[in-house]
Amino acid sequence: MHRTQDTSFISTRGGMAPTGFLDVLLSGLAPDGGLAVPAEVPRVSAATLEAWRSLSYPELAAEVIGLYATDIPAADLRALTAAAYGPEHFPDPVVPLRPLDAVAPGLALVGLSEGPTMAFKDLAMQFLGQAIPYQLAREGRVLNILGATSGDTGSAAEHAFRGRDGVSVFMLSPQGRMSDVQRAQMYSLADANIHNIAVDGVFDDCQNLVKAINGDAAFKVEYAIGAVNSINFGRIAAQVVYYVWAWLRASDGVAEGLAGAAAGAGVGEPTGERIFGVDVAVPSGNFGNIYAGHLARTMGVPIRRLILATNENNVLDEFFSTGVYRPRSSAQTLATSSPSMDISKASNLERFIWTLLGAEEFHSRWPELERTGVLDLSDQLARMRDEFGFVSGTSTHADRLAAIRRVHEATAAPIDPHTADGVTVALRLMEPEVPTLVLETARPEKFPETVAEALGAPQPVPEAIQCLLDAEQHVVSIPCDESRLRALIAADALRS
Ligand SMILES: *Cc1c(COP(=O)(O)O)cnc(C)c1O
Repeated sequence: MHRTQDTSFISTRGGMAPTGFLDVLLSGLAPDGGLAVPAEVPRVSAATLEAWRSLSYPELAAEVIGLYATDIPAADLRALTAAAYGPEHFPDPVVPLRPLDAVAPGLALVGLSEGPTMAFKDLAMQFLGQAIPYQLAREGRVLNILGATSGDTGSAAEHAFRGRDGVSVFMLSPQGRMSDVQRAQMYSLADANIHNIAVDGVFDDCQNLVKAINGDAAFKVEYAIGAVNSINFGRIAAQVVYYVWAWLRASDGVAEGLAGAAAGAGVGEPTGERIFGVDVAVPSGNFGNIYAGHLARTMGVPIRRLILATNENNVLDEFFSTGVYRPRSSAQTLATSSPSMDISKASNLERFIWTLLGAEEFHSRWPELERTGVLDLSDQLARMRDEFGFVSGTSTHADRLAAIRRVHEATAAPIDPHTADGVTVALRLMEPEVPTLVLETARPEKFPETVAEALGAPQPVPEAIQCLLDAEQHVVSIPCDESRLRALIAADALRS
């Protein structure tokens, strides 16, 4: 089954010639403004899943990503994943499962936050930190990554690309508006290729400066400006891996059951019999993480339902419970205690809607969204649930605090506020006898204020974090001024 399918990429908008994984990796939006999607999702048989059971995380990552990255030689890909997920960046196991039966029988956490910045974004970004320099070296190019962050993405990118050849990172952050830990994870880096730029403004001001630079095609080319944002398919491919890993670990010891699946309808058929099916709950904002779960399910991983959890910014819960997608403006976005999910326009949702409607229908319906600001797909609601397995719920500040307390009382270890949104909605929607895995999207130490509010007492600050907080901070402060940003980039950008 390896490398035989057509896994080249096309654009959701239909205006891009089929493109390989490596080209998609180095480009942002498709030239027609759409998102790159695999022309055909690779399928994995029950026998292959079983064969993968004995692999380490880096080995599994090479197999799974290899189904999409058919233009990277297998030996090269194994070297890239070994470097990305090796002991320099992650403990062993890279993704530990933590049972929460004491909270609810069958509940478990999937530990995605063991990487250098204590959030799940490290798992995707560390792969890019290997794969992008690999491809740049082959092409004899350099890349200056320009981004804006409200916290987690910027630090994950900087830790993935620090010290890497042929790449530099210019990361804009809103002055004084990140948590202390998030800020220190970025500003403590002293690497010559990492440029922290604190903008006197809010996240949207940072984002607008990035957009302004990206709108200047000549400047972009002259300074080899690129991005590693959440719509990059390379990140999605790397995120599929941990859904496979989590299912394998959850089903270790109950593998006999799979033989029946191999003989029957195929574990991943939407209507087929699922052997040891699990439900997976995912704290969501931009629909990147859970879209990878949707791909894993389509590939044949026995995931019954994908439980989507939002915070008070619940555009995605609204979509999956009514079928109506109504993105909100940034002015309508609430600042919550799970800040990395404070998103009101889910960039990656376009990929799922393309799959849901099929290319032709998508091309005729999607412009409605641009025209009216609303896309009413309520006629598809039953399919979203029955065929694609999506269910959803909203969690509030009070829910987060209660979930943090409940997990802490049962296990003596807290969870972070984003993960708490996942636990809240999982507890609400989980079904008896069905193992339910909640993706832990960050470590509680990264968001100590909310954890302290939940538990009524400040938590001890780990030594590693105290070191970051105490370290010399490397940052340049600028007003919200495009010409100042241009000057900074022109002075420090790598040139080929
Ligand atoms: C980015 C992030 C999310 C949201 O993930 P999406 O892929 O954007 O849905 C949730 N939790 C944390 C901690 C994050 O950093």
